[in-house]
Amino acid sequence: MVQQQKELRKQAQELLLKYDLRKTGCRVDVLELFLQNPFALSHSDLEKLLGDDYDRVTLYRTLYSFKEQGLVHSINDVSGSVKYALCKEACSLHQHHDNHIHFNCNSCGQTFCLDEVLIPATALPDGYQIERLHFSAQGVCKYCNTAT
Ligand SMILES: [Zn+2]
Ligand SMILES: [Zn+2]
Ligand SMILES: [Zn+2]
Repeated sequence: MVQQQKELRKQAQELLLKYDLRKTGCRVDVLELFLQNPFALSHSDLEKLLGDDYDRVTLYRTLYSFKEQGLVHSINDVSGSVKYALCKEACSLHQHHDNHIHFNCNSCGQTFCLDEVLIPATALPDGYQIERLHFSAQGVCKYCNTAT
């Protein structure tokens, strides 16, 4: 358990280095939470998990810098709340390529990135230019499916 925690911390620190982000306590802690959880986390999820360690502004800035550097992407989930999830290799500074489907579980309410399921290419009428395409599916996730 302790070893696992150390491993997570190391992983988080390496990611910060890779994405050119200065190491701060809040960044490391938030990143650990993203690495630990298979689903996307909202601002209030993170607040709850972190307890009173950091104020809202610090957390907000942390998420903002992660998003700017291409480390996390935001997801508008079906309930209208914004969640964040780790990006895969393809993203970089100001350049997000998160063209995968997001899955909202009706049972646990979590949102998952289905990185391997890409949004199909969409042809639009002349004159329309896509900047971002949202594609989300609803159903029961694999964790809820195996729990029963
Ligand atoms: Zn991204
Ligand atoms: Zn679920
Ligand atoms: Zn995603």
